[in-house]
Amino acid sequence: MNQVQDHRLRSPAAQHDPLWISDQPDLGFHGGMMGSAKVPGWTALNSTPHMYMELHEGDNWQIAQAMNFATQHNLKLLIKNTGHDWFGRSMSRGFMLWTHNIQGSQWHDAFRPANCGHSEPAVSFAAGVQFWQVFQEMKEHKRLVVTGTCATVGHVGFTLGGGYGDYSHFYGSGASNLLEAEVILPSGQQVTASECNEYSDLFKALRGGGPGFGLVTKFTYRTYPEPAVSGMIMGTVSGDMVHNLAEFFAWYKALNEQKKVKHIGGILQLQPGHVIFVNLRFVNLPAEDCQALLQQSSFFNGLTCQQAAVFNDFSDYKSSENGSKGLQPDWLKSMAADLANGVTENQGGDAVLFSLNYALGGTENALRDFEKTSVNPQALATVKFDWMIGRDSPHVVSHGTQVDTTTLKAFEAAKHDVDEVLGGVGGYLNEGDISEENWQEHYWGSNYPFLLEVKKKYDPNNLLTCFQCVGAETIQC
Ligand SMILES: Cc1cc2nc3c(=O)[nH]c(=O)nc-3n(C[C@H](O)[C@H](O)[C@H](O)COP(=O)(O)OP(=O)(O)OC[C@H]3O[C@@H](n4cnc5c(N)ncnc54)[C@H](O)[C@@H]3O)c2cc1C
Repeated sequence: MNQVQDHRLRSPAAQHDPLWISDQPDLGFHGGMMGSAKVPGWTALNSTPHMYMELHEGDNWQIAQAMNFATQHNLKLLIKNTGHDWFGRSMSRGFMLWTHNIQGSQWHDAFRPANCGHSEPAVSFAAGVQFWQVFQEMKEHKRLVVTGTCATVGHVGFTLGGGYGDYSHFYGSGASNLLEAEVILPSGQQVTASECNEYSDLFKALRGGGPGFGLVTKFTYRTYPEPAVSGMIMGTVSGDMVHNLAEFFAWYKALNEQKKVKHIGGILQLQPGHVIFVNLRFVNLPAEDCQALLQQSSFFNGLTCQQAAVFNDFSDYKSSENGSKGLQPDWLKSMAADLANGVTENQGGDAVLFSLNYALGGTENALRDFEKTSVNPQALATVKFDWMIGRDSPHVVSHGTQVDTTTLKAFEAAKHDVDEVLGGVGGYLNEGDISEENWQEHYWGSNYPFLLEVKKKYDPNNLLTCFQCVGAETIQC
């Protein structure tokens, strides 16, 4: 067991090494999160665990012992991989199990999930694997796995929270592509769960039901052949932001009606000074056909569809060892500089991020197994609308920080407008809304009563509990 140490977020390593924060057991990716009118922000003050245990491959016995110890001593147990959770779910007060060093992968030509009759190409990733490792392996194996956009996110947290990436409209979510899970339950029992065995209820809960059902040591996912063609639409759009956004949404709505949205995903980031940073991806669509789609809207004036591989090279992207500087590709440096500029310009480090990846439209394949996940069944017709907060914000968030109610009202009105245009309902836990009071309905809809039953069955003592997680309404987080 280890005691937590003080870290300086402003150290050069923290600023220049994209993996540094993920490599620290006691740091979260977001150093603070703005509170809402009702919920206080979380900070170093209320977000640092007291003790942590570093886990490695094969430490199943130690994990079971830690579960028993925490239960006996009535400790709040936390599970952390990278600390990317937006609301600090892996970083509150308590006794932490750090899964970052549970490493390993195995590629299968024909994987048969426990007790199932069918088999298909798949890959198993141990709990600590991050997307930069997945990207690198996808390139080597020429197979696609559904991932999120950012290289530093961990696959387990991603999938537990639904898991939508730039290609989800075509291939589905992390949750819908999950085939099997190895889990250590709060009771200490080690189980393998699939849709075909006696743990099928647990398996469904792990497919988007959020954290809090057990410690996942391994997830196995379906894989796909490398897409024939893919690329990006990247650049900035300046000018009247209200007008430009209206243009964009009209275009995206039309795209949905034309059943072309399956080819396009990604994010729009609204930055200070009426600047919209466009970071979209297209897949299984020739660049010239993609360009023809952009020509349907004046929003994209000057932006082009550029062919690029789905699989980027991350071979020089090695995990740093507790603060030592890792290697990083040049694009990461420029992204960090952009982020820093945005933060400085905006004083508060806030920007609004629209993510388009949340299962709007999609292909038959993307929808395959969707109903077997536990995310909100209405998610099929939703677009995401997010806050993004720069971690280096000069505004230090305190335990009592509240969003000013004028901003909150404007935000709520904007969310409503977007939903009106795009017919969206619901949301998902990973990129959720800290101010959402009806989060049970918002994230899980009609699946919530089922999830609550599964929670009671596998974690009756609420050993694993977190903010806006299943069962959290009965507990003070
Ligand atoms: C820069 C950035 C980009 C992102 N991009 C996307 C995106 O494209 N798509 C998307 O869907 N989401 C995205 N997210 C959200 C992200 O998927 C979630 O925050 C996710 O929960 C992160 O998982 P993690 O394991 O990396 O983080 P952690 O903070 O370590 O864990 C997140 C949650 O999962 C639990 N958990 C982690 N590992 C385990 C385990 N082995 N067993 C049981 N519980 C576990 C933790 O207890 C915690 O509650 C992004 C977040 C950031 C910060």
